[in-house]
Amino acid sequence: MGKRALFIVDPQLDFMPGGNLAVEFGDKIVPLINSLISKFDVVLVSGDWHPEDHKSFTTENSDKKVLDVVKVRGKKMIVCPPHCVQGTKGSEFHPDLELDNVPVFYKGKDKFDHPFSGFVGENPDLGSVEKYLKDKEVDEVYVVGLAGDYCVKETALDCSVFFKTYFIVDGTRFIGDMNKILKGLVKEGIMVINSGDLGFFMKDEKNYKEHLKKSTRPEKATRNTRVKFNNPYVGYTD
Ligand SMILES: [Zn+2]
Repeated sequence: MGKRALFIVDPQLDFMPGGNLAVEFGDKIVPLINSLISKFDVVLVSGDWHPEDHKSFTTENSDKKVLDVVKVRGKKMIVCPPHCVQGTKGSEFHPDLELDNVPVFYKGKDKFDHPFSGFVGENPDLGSVEKYLKDKEVDEVYVVGLAGDYCVKETALDCSVFFKTYFIVDGTRFIGDMNKILKGLVKEGIMVINSGDLGFFMKDEKNYKEHLKKSTRPEKATRNTRVKFNNPYVGYTD
């Protein structure tokens, strides 16, 4: 059986209360994430890492307001307050997170692009997230972090192209309509669970093998050809 990875998405101070792009109660996920870290074979964290003149920032779009959409060099970007500028306090991970020895994959260095997905992050020694997870023989990824509607959602969608992907609801916090986001993820074949459900998936091997039997796996997936998994145990319904 392959390994399970915990993917912590952008748990940075700018996304926590008091930060420049704060998610309400964003800091409440920190103790839970700390408790999850030791349960996984592989743990990784992504970070938003922008130059100070990033083209999505309000400071570069004086005629626009937050959440307006601008098109820069053919790419659409949502206008945001300046956040996670490289080397600033806001770009730091929450100080209570136990991230020693957890590799960091940064994204958003190009000022003309604002990727939300942590999956496109890069580590100078380890390469891409995809390479790292495959090198580690991971076949299941569990995502947590901030914010649920944007970066965690997009990370889950990208991970689900290559790996069976679980979205741990209580390991994230949302800016907008949580129910809408979760329904969309379930439709894409992502397993939406609470951390309390992890025992079922991680400890009960009999249930787990049954669960694998009922699941389909992508054969030749790429980022552009998403293959949906069957979703036998959906933790979220109407
Ligand atoms: Zn950003």
